[in-house]
Amino acid sequence: MLSERARALKPSPTLAITAKEKALKAQGLDIAGFGAGEPDFDTPAHIKEAAIKAINDNFTRYTPASGIDSLKDAIIEKFKRDNNLSFKREEVIISCGGKHALFNLFEAIFQKGDEVLIPVPFWVSYPPMVELTGANPVLVETYEEEDYQVTGNMLKKYINRNTKGIILNYPSNPAGSIFYRENLEAIGKLAVEHNLYIISDEIYEKLTYDDYRHVSIASLDSAFKERTIICHGVSKTYAMTGWRIGFAAGPADVVKAMGNIQSQSTSNPTSISQMAALAALNGPQDSIGVMVKEFQKRRDFLVAGLRSISGVTCYNPKGTFYVFPNFNCVLGKRYKDKAISSSTVWTEVLLEDFHTAVVPGIEFGKEGYIRLSFATSMEVIQKGLERIKKAVGKLK
Ligand SMILES: *Cc1c(COP(=O)(O)O)cnc(C)c1O
Repeated sequence: MLSERARALKPSPTLAITAKEKALKAQGLDIAGFGAGEPDFDTPAHIKEAAIKAINDNFTRYTPASGIDSLKDAIIEKFKRDNNLSFKREEVIISCGGKHALFNLFEAIFQKGDEVLIPVPFWVSYPPMVELTGANPVLVETYEEEDYQVTGNMLKKYINRNTKGIILNYPSNPAGSIFYRENLEAIGKLAVEHNLYIISDEIYEKLTYDDYRHVSIASLDSAFKERTIICHGVSKTYAMTGWRIGFAAGPADVVKAMGNIQSQSTSNPTSISQMAALAALNGPQDSIGVMVKEFQKRRDFLVAGLRSISGVTCYNPKGTFYVFPNFNCVLGKRYKDKAISSSTVWTEVLLEDFHTAVVPGIEFGKEGYIRLSFATSMEVIQKGLERIKKAVGKLK
């Protein structure tokens, strides 16, 4: 018999939809795919070359479990350069992806009976990962009309003696929203007052648009930094999702515990990928600007297209490569003999009848919404928009 934990766990819905999209494409169907949770750019050449060199240099053995010093130093330099934050080596850990850093972190700080505040809409993996530790996710609703802000007042009513931490993700997957500085200040103060950990998932830091510049909560006050663990990685910034390198920085005792967990589970992240990540962080950064410029063009086109559909509203993302339009207008309608009773049914109709793959909002905790990734070509975006418009027009 499987463990209770394993029985309670469902696979990542976003990975499942991407798999379905790929399977339908393999059958020869022309699917407009908006499921992708990864950049559609190639890893820059100098990064790939560093990995090839690592192989040829026989840098192919175990490394220290928490990662190599040269990469830790590059990460320390990154935090200094981008966020004006100082970390020591013992405050930094390299993991097998940002997701793995978060997993180790939750294992290190959460346990049965703890409550963890998670703003909604949330990244799909936070609640299941929190639950795996025995802790309880406490969902804090945020609203499109309020730019998905979390204020101190909103949080206060959820905080009690069991509250152990809050998970912040900005720019956020799925909405592409950020937190205003004054709200980060208020959240930080509450965390200090109630002795909470702040988990700050900043993996989309570099993918921001218009005049928005990312500010880490840890950089606002040394009292915030003392209780913040920043989770980050190279996947999104350098189009390196398959390389599986993420990192975290925070209090030395937490980082040490994360390292112990890692040393008893995966051991070190891949030696070759660490050398590639080192080249990514220390090498030329211009590939990011090229990617952001292209993403911004696609975002503008996609948001305008979605907003032109009658009844649909769409928050204009300040970062990431996702949009999270509000399709509440389709709920309660029918397509042929099918009642559109949920965002899940709506995405099934879009995929099966209109060959357009999107992710239901309910997977991120928001019914009535869908998530579309614009990490795909303009042609696919154009085609997909036409299909979605056509689908909405066919509803009764
Ligand atoms: C993609 C993603 C991650 C981690 O990705 P890795 O490939 O594991 O580094 C973490 N948080 C959010 C919100 C993400 O979208």
